[in-house]
Amino acid sequence: MPDPAPDPALAPAPDAVLAARLKTYEGRLALAEAPGKDPVNAPMIRHWCEALGDAHPAYTGPAAIAPPAMLQVWTMGGLGGHDRRTPAYQELLALLDEAGCTSVVATDCQQEYLRPLRPGDTITFDTVIETVDGPKSTRFGRGWFLTTRTDIRADGHLAGIHRFRVLRYAPRARQSPPALQALQAPQAPQTPQAPQTPHAPQQRRPRPVINRDNAGYWEGVARRELLIQRCAGCRAPRFPWLPGCPECGSPDWDTVRACGEGTVFSYVVMHHPPFPAFDPPYAVGLIELAEGVRIVADVVGVPYDKVRIGMPVRLEFLHCDAELTVPVFRVCEAAA
Ligand code: ZN
Repeated sequence: MPDPAPDPALAPAPDAVLAARLKTYEGRLALAEAPGKDPVNAPMIRHWCEALGDAHPAYTGPAAIAPPAMLQVWTMGGLGGHDRRTPAYQELLALLDEAGCTSVVATDCQQEYLRPLRPGDTITFDTVIETVDGPKSTRFGRGWFLTTRTDIRADGHLAGIHRFRVLRYAPRARQSPPALQALQAPQAPQTPQAPQTPHAPQQRRPRPVINRDNAGYWEGVARRELLIQRCAGCRAPRFPWLPGCPECGSPDWDTVRACGEGTVFSYVVMHHPPFPAFDPPYAVGLIELAEGVRIVADVVGVPYDKVRIGMPVRLEFLHCDAELTVPVFRVCEAAA
């Protein structure tokens, strides 16, 4: 019996065929005659300068110009995006989607400044699909680099060129993006004291950063004591540990051992991003201790969706592995 005919919608296009199709979009318009949402204006210039700490005098006063690096700002479509996308651009994106390249990450941009922009200038722009290169294998996954060139005009005169490159890629199955991998603790062999959670996570929990300002805290935790700093000057308790008192500035302090009673002051339920050391969803609480300070810690003893603000909780210590113990807070039975 002959094999059924492959479904062309499901069959992956061979690279050469896809490349040839993608190349036909080079040089075509992605956005045509798009208007800037606002004219160049002083408030946006001021916000930009404040955010970047740029006090250059050219950007203020009656003869102000816009900082050149704001070029792209005047073309941004906002949350709603642009409604001037051409059919050609939509087809190109659909082709990449069909090829499995459903994820996108910006890689770089280049700008050319041809004349200054001033408050009151009306912005229009065209965007051309300049190049589609690939397929390339990257740490994110396999995909195609898409470069667009946007010509930005002020009152009809070319003022700048903005090239923007993104990688459209097929995400690797069930793998963290590189940024997360870099944060993960190295693999360690499982020990008999390995995590005591219901679903054993895949990796060790991240290690705390221990320095001379907080070493005493972690030494206390290792002894199953939660130590709160107390200012020797004004007696204010403080947590997390700091080298000086934020109330009075005194560098002198001692510690008090937390009695272990607390309440859920606030909490979040973590769903995303996935992290191999944890098993989402799970609740992370901001616990107000009886001593008056707050600590971020796991809330245990009830399902993640049963955690509520105001619940009384009690300190426990979770022995994660041979080298790490952390404080957690168990919801008191009466509240569970
Ligand atoms: Zn103080």
